[in-house]
Amino acid sequence: MDEELREAARDHLIRYGQGDIDKLYVSSTGTTVTDDEGREILDFTSGQMCATLGHSHPAIVKAIQMGAGNAIHLFSGMIPEAVARLGQKLAEWLPKPLTRSLFVNTGSESNEAALRMAKMVTGGYEVIALGGSWHGVTGQAASASFASERRGYGPKVPGVSVIPEPYSYRCPIGHCRDNCDMSCMKVGMKMFDMASEGAPAAIIAEPILSAGGVLVPPEGYFKKLKSEAEKRGMMLIFDEAQTAFGRIGHKFAATQLGVTPDIMSVSKTLGGGLPLAAMITSDKIEEAAHEKGYAYYTSHVSDPLPALAGLAVLETVEEENLIERAREMGGYLREALETLLQKYEAIGEIRGQGLLMGIDLVKDRESREPHLELGLMTTKRCMELGLSMNIKHRPERGAVWRIAPPLTVSKAELDKGVEILDQALRESLDELARNPG
Ligand code: PMP
Repeated sequence: MDEELREAARDHLIRYGQGDIDKLYVSSTGTTVTDDEGREILDFTSGQMCATLGHSHPAIVKAIQMGAGNAIHLFSGMIPEAVARLGQKLAEWLPKPLTRSLFVNTGSESNEAALRMAKMVTGGYEVIALGGSWHGVTGQAASASFASERRGYGPKVPGVSVIPEPYSYRCPIGHCRDNCDMSCMKVGMKMFDMASEGAPAAIIAEPILSAGGVLVPPEGYFKKLKSEAEKRGMMLIFDEAQTAFGRIGHKFAATQLGVTPDIMSVSKTLGGGLPLAAMITSDKIEEAAHEKGYAYYTSHVSDPLPALAGLAVLETVEEENLIERAREMGGYLREALETLLQKYEAIGEIRGQGLLMGIDLVKDRESREPHLELGLMTTKRCMELGLSMNIKHRPERGAVWRIAPPLTVSKAELDKGVEILDQALRESLDELARNPG
C-alpha cells in the first residue's frame, strides 16, 4: 500500500460521483479484484458491467496483444479487416433484418449515433424515453435518461418526452400493485400525443431498466411499445448495453422477447472490458440514412484493436457456452437469493433475469418504503468482507442492489458472495436495531 499515492489520487483526480477514495486498486482477474493492500474482493458488478467473460480473460488478453502488434488505430475512413469481421460476425448473431453495424466506443456514443440516425431517417426530432432509463451522459443520450442527475448541467436537447416506466412494485402512476397492466404506457403515449409538435422520431428503451432498479417489464410490453412506435412512424431503439451477448441467458433481449427493434445499441458487454460499442440497424434504414448523408465521424470510430476484443468476446461466449451458463448460474443465484428473501423482511423483491439481478430493500413489505440506510450500510459492510456490489443512491429509485457477476462466475463464488451478503445484512440490521435513526 502506498499512502502517498492514495493522497495523490485524492489531490489530483476529479471526483465524478464515485465516492471517497480510501484505497486504490491494482489488478483484476476472473471474478476477483485486488486492492492496494493485497485484499481480494469478489466483483459482483463485472467492473462497470463490462467484464462479462471475467476480468482479463485469456482470449481478451490475446486479442489485445495481437491487436497491439498489428494495428491499434487507423484513419477513421480506413476500414480495418478486424472491423469487417466483427460486422459480419455480429450479423450472424443478430435477429434479421439487423445486419449493419457502426462501431464506436461507449454506450452513450452508440445511443447518440442511434438517435442521430433515427432523426435523420424519419425527419423528426421527438424522442420518447422511459422513466428510470439510463442511456448515457452525452447530449442526446443524457436528454433521454431519467435515472441520472439532470440538474445543474443546463438545458437538454429539445423534443424528449418521458413516459412512466412499468414498475409494478412501485407503480409511477399509482395504479397497479405487482401486476402491471400497461396503463403506464397508455397514459404516457396519450401525454406524448398531446405534447407532440408533429415530428416524431424514436422511442428508446432498455429491455430491462437496469439503473432504474433492474425493472423487468411485463410480458407483451415491448410488442405493444413497438406497435405504438409504428403507429406514429417512430423508430424503436433497444438499448441492449447490459442485456446483449448472454448476460440475461439469451443472445439479446430482442431474441428472447421476439421483438426486433429498428435500431439496436450494444456496448458494455461487447468489448470484454475495452471501450467498444455498436449501433446496429437494417439494410433499409442504413440505405435511407446514407442517402440523406448520415455521418458519424469520430477519432475512434471503427478502431481495429477493440474490434479484435469484440470478436474474442463473441467467440468465447460461443466456445464456453456462456449463454447457457448465464441461465444456469442465474437460476442458482436466484435460488440462493430467494432464501434471503424468506429470511429478511427488509428484502422487498428480487427481480431480474439470468445474471442480472436486483434486490429491492424496504423498511417494511407493506409500505415498500426504500431502506436507503440499510442499503448503504450493507454495501459498505460487504466491501469490508470482500464483496463488491452496486447500490442505487437516488431515493426515488428505491434502494436496489444490482448483482451482475461475470458469466464465468463459479458456484463456489456465488455461494461465497451470498454468504457475505447474508452476514452483512444480518449485522447491519442488528446495528440499526441497536441504534435506530
Ligand atoms: N445504456 C445503458 C443501458 C447503460 O447502462 C449505460 C451505462 N450505465 C449506458 C447506456 C451508457 O454507457 P456508457 O457509460 O458506456 O456511455
